[in-house]
Amino acid sequence: MIDGVPIPPTEEFRSLGVGIRLTEAAGTGPLLSKRIRRAGELLSRAHGVQGGRSRKAEAVATLVLATGLFGSEVADVSAADLRALETKVLNSIWGPCRGGRAKEVVFSVLEKGHRVSPIMKVRYMQIGWLARAARRPGSLQTIIQAVWEASKGRPRPVGPVGRAFRTVTNLGWKATDGWWKWQLPDDPEPLDMVSEPMSRLMHRVREALRGQQLRQLELRRPRQFEGMQGEVLKDVLNKQLSKYPDGVERTLILGAIAGATWTADKAHRRGLRTTAHCPYCECGMDEDEDHLYWKCSAWQVVRDPMVVQLVRYAKEIPWLSENPEEWPPCLRLSCLPPAHAFKGVGDEIVQQFVSAQLTMFCRVLRMRMGRERVKECLFDKLGSGHKSYPFEELYGPKPRAEDQPVFEVELLPPSKWKWEPAFQVALIDWLRELQWMPGKSSVTFIELALDFEAHSGKAMPAAPSAELESIVLSLHERARVLRTALAVLQKNLKSGTLVPGTMTLKARSLVPLGAGPLAGLTSRPYFTRRSDMLQQLRSLAEYSEQRWTSKIRAGVSFNVGTSTQQRPAEGARERRSRLHAADNWNM
Ligand SMILES: [Zn+2]
Repeated sequence: MIDGVPIPPTEEFRSLGVGIRLTEAAGTGPLLSKRIRRAGELLSRAHGVQGGRSRKAEAVATLVLATGLFGSEVADVSAADLRALETKVLNSIWGPCRGGRAKEVVFSVLEKGHRVSPIMKVRYMQIGWLARAARRPGSLQTIIQAVWEASKGRPRPVGPVGRAFRTVTNLGWKATDGWWKWQLPDDPEPLDMVSEPMSRLMHRVREALRGQQLRQLELRRPRQFEGMQGEVLKDVLNKQLSKYPDGVERTLILGAIAGATWTADKAHRRGLRTTAHCPYCECGMDEDEDHLYWKCSAWQVVRDPMVVQLVRYAKEIPWLSENPEEWPPCLRLSCLPPAHAFKGVGDEIVQQFVSAQLTMFCRVLRMRMGRERVKECLFDKLGSGHKSYPFEELYGPKPRAEDQPVFEVELLPPSKWKWEPAFQVALIDWLRELQWMPGKSSVTFIELALDFEAHSGKAMPAAPSAELESIVLSLHERARVLRTALAVLQKNLKSGTLVPGTMTLKARSLVPLGAGPLAGLTSRPYFTRRSDMLQQLRSLAEYSEQRWTSKIRAGVSFNVGTSTQQRPAEGARERRSRLHAADNWNM
């Protein structure tokens, strides 16, 4: 590290196509970085692969990850790189318009996670690498043994050996004999890397990785997913799901299982509805998953006959209550049958139970979708009921400026400021001209970025890490650059306050224009170029309205995929700053 900036990891040698670094630097090395970037590019194209979800998943597994992550069982890949790649995989298999889906369900229940999830695949490869070393005497085995002995069984998580052991211990495995015999949680039978048949061994590794994902989800979103205890009957579920061909019903059900159904409650929490009350019945209760699937009187006709069947099957399942209200949330709200609740029950009954529940969810969701198409009541129409955008701040005289922040900062050297110096000068000029309103309020970095661009007459520069400077930045990217630049200035401030308030991820000032809560500040200025801002925000409002109506029309409200032809969110990328034609920062 120099000045808090990591040295680019270049001391890398290539062995059989794998870049192995000699330094202790963590993070993704250059060779693997290149492969991952290539994989990311291929993934954005995989979305166009013809055919259903399973064909896309197969394309991802074979084409992309097999090459993209080749060698990552021994080379280091940063967690951030893997997460970014995982999101790309999710978008290419499931389409980009499905917010709120639990990726753990997608990768541990619906897909073969050890093949398509970059995170699970790397862990799977690491443990496989350890097991193969344990079975084959040779120099690798000696090295691992040496590391194990030198660290008294607790290797530091650096280097291939340490990282593989970290993966194993993160699964909750305890070493019982050297580094090849392990006690697994919830499994009385120890796992022996040397003598167990490889296929069985790797099967147990896959189970353990899936269990880890499901436990993580249960902690993250207990309201919808509590009760899985690390294992759901995924084979039963997938067999029953295979009876739904690709189409609306399948999409509705998969959305429900992954926790991605738009309820009034969720729409309210995302700022798309004034209340969480159920819009389909008159009871005044919030529409969450429990109300939707089990209580709403609007769907009673299709629900009741299925509930009768479910209760009848439940009587034959000793570990499951006859009262659906007592079922764990994962089963009741997300249709994920936890293995422990179905212990000792014949396959026939389990299949019938799961089939009946899927039918019930499907019928309720279908009926609701039909109702929504006619009533259009799930999302508020733009502007109605909401506080509207404070356009009045953009007209007329500003009040007298009082208690404005003062600050002192000097021109930062290139080691601290990675952009052109002119950008810093312009930024400070702009900051000095902003007039902050008294009291608490909020402003998004998007608005600030627009005002800054109008003030300086130049487009926001790209992030210093970006490879191509000429690339057209989306609004969000420009906002992110501003946020980073302000943070750098703040950190190097000599004295005073740069901006009042603090950073927040939930600035709501653009909510009336149809955006969600966004990153911003808990204070609000009068902008410096108010007439430019008025124009910009009006066109932003227009764009949001279009996006909004196309979203609802396309049925995204029910997560019925819009597939590849229509991707309203893409519009944001195409929104060039009208300043892009202007000069750039290096003068
Ligand atoms: Zn209702």
